[in-house]
Amino acid sequence: MIITKSTSIKEALAIGKECSKCGNCCSYSSGALFDADIPRIAEFLKITEKALKEEYLEEVEKFNTLRLRPKLIRQKDRPHGRCVFLEDNNHCRIHEVKPTECRIGNCGQDGEKLSIWFRLNYYVNPYDPESIRQWAMYLETNQTISGGNLTDLVPDKERLSKMLNYSELRKK
Ligand code: SF4
Ligand code: SF4
Repeated sequence: MIITKSTSIKEALAIGKECSKCGNCCSYSSGALFDADIPRIAEFLKITEKALKEEYLEEVEKFNTLRLRPKLIRQKDRPHGRCVFLEDNNHCRIHEVKPTECRIGNCGQDGEKLSIWFRLNYYVNPYDPESIRQWAMYLETNQTISGGNLTDLVPDKERLSKMLNYSELRKK
């Protein structure tokens, strides 16, 4: 299947079912949540949304966008760590309601494209010059999918140029 930035969340979730739940990726990272994930996970754990955020979630910033993800249990301030919901048997404690990024990510042949799809749709903000600058740096050493080039995201070439040369510093 061809995955582009415009691929729908429904299609992305359908492809994401390839994950074999081995728990490897969960032992050094965790997936970002959509807002709708928060009440579902809180209800599953039988705690309030406030308690969920305080006890189990942390902020993650990518491409100048903040999102929430399950806390990582780090050793000695290392940037990576085991997801707080990964159990000793490598099963996800909240598998039935796990975060959207966890449901999309997989190690199948489309896994990398789905990761790019997630970054493009949920982290990269075409209206935020800093987000675009960080995406431009990312593209220097990484590939993207259709719809994810700089000129796709910011078709106005003059505006794109101002963003990239720091003439436009912040969101308007
Ligand atoms: S929430 Fe579950 S699937 Fe997602 S990273 Fe944590 S253990 Fe893995
Ligand atoms: S995405 Fe890959 S590494 Fe992560 S749990 Fe699924 S199969 Fe394992």
